[in-house]
Amino acid sequence: MAEKQTSNSGQFNRRIVEDRRKTADHPDIKSMTLEELTEWVTGIGEKPFRAKQLYSWLHEHLAGAWEEMTNLPKSLRESGKAHPIVCLEKVDEQISAIDGTRKYLFRLEDGNVIESVLMRYKHGNSVCISSQVGCRMGCRFCASALGGLTRSLRASEMLDQIYRIQSITGERVSNVVVMGTGEPLDNYDNLLRFIHILTGEGGLHISQRNLTVSTCGLAERIYDLAKENLQITLALSLHAPNDVKRRELMPIANRYSMDEVLEACRHYFIETGRRITFEYSLVAGVNDSDEDAEELSSRIKGINCHVNLIPVNPIKERSYVRSTRQAVVNFKNKLEKYGINVTIRREMGSDIDGACGQLRKSYIDKKESEI
Ligand code: SAH
Repeated sequence: MAEKQTSNSGQFNRRIVEDRRKTADHPDIKSMTLEELTEWVTGIGEKPFRAKQLYSWLHEHLAGAWEEMTNLPKSLRESGKAHPIVCLEKVDEQISAIDGTRKYLFRLEDGNVIESVLMRYKHGNSVCISSQVGCRMGCRFCASALGGLTRSLRASEMLDQIYRIQSITGERVSNVVVMGTGEPLDNYDNLLRFIHILTGEGGLHISQRNLTVSTCGLAERIYDLAKENLQITLALSLHAPNDVKRRELMPIANRYSMDEVLEACRHYFIETGRRITFEYSLVAGVNDSDEDAEELSSRIKGINCHVNLIPVNPIKERSYVRSTRQAVVNFKNKLEKYGINVTIRREMGSDIDGACGQLRKSYIDKKESEI
């Protein structure tokens, strides 16, 4: 299927509500599409072509401040100064001695901190970004859920995680996964804005096929996403073979049954032609038995999918225990026997602050103990 990266941006632009581009007291220019930027630039009395230059500074050259934009007229840089550009501040960086994975802690304009990860693979560099500060989905095994949701991230704040990492390392980022802290479909409009700017022309122009959005399963939003005419990969966090077990691990399963979520995934595949990824975190004695594998196979049979098994990362606040290597391999073999595509996620950066969200969590805990 041909890639349609920008074909629906007109429809996208019309849907955008003005105030989503604004921070408390100034427009957030890094969250603006080129069309919006053109409107803004002409509104302050500059020529329209300046918008393209400005857009290129922000999204291609990854400029973090007005002073860097040397080919813009002084008048524009001066009026721009009243509108600070979103640029994340690196607070911490941990580098894995095992595989070169890097975890970053970034500070936002309002003082909140978020976590992003750079993983180096043979096929290129992949960045895992956060979509919210905290999360309100409450998955039992997840460190990001412990403090609840503080706020959603703006498109600029999602983009800048990738921009800063590329600037700091000097290495091109070719893949992006929205699998860090937060539920991306709970921040839908900003997520779409982020996708269009990241994958559109004039920015990093990352292929939509190299972008994965992971959701705990907000079924209605999956239907919405299927309409957006995108070529991104949808990953669904399944983690259980039936509703009873899923509800124990994921409160969202009380709102949408597995049937409803799986139907939404079928629909996503039909609309987009993109194979679904099911994520399945294996917890010892909870969801890793032969019967669980059998039941899971029967539930997802017929869906064009791929299952990614993740041995759960234990967090100290919960008593979940990771499945043994043997149980993980057994589970994989069992799924394969039923004709399901399955891989075991390679563990990256296991020597640097364990599970997702733990770097941020340990930073916050430390700050609180200092008060
Ligand atoms: N809210 C989205 C994306 C963020 S979590 C979602 O639920 O998909 C990214 C993935 O990591 C999800 O599959 C999530 O269930 C999983 N995850 C979270 N904490 C984990 C842990 N401690 N061990 C293993 N997987 C975990």
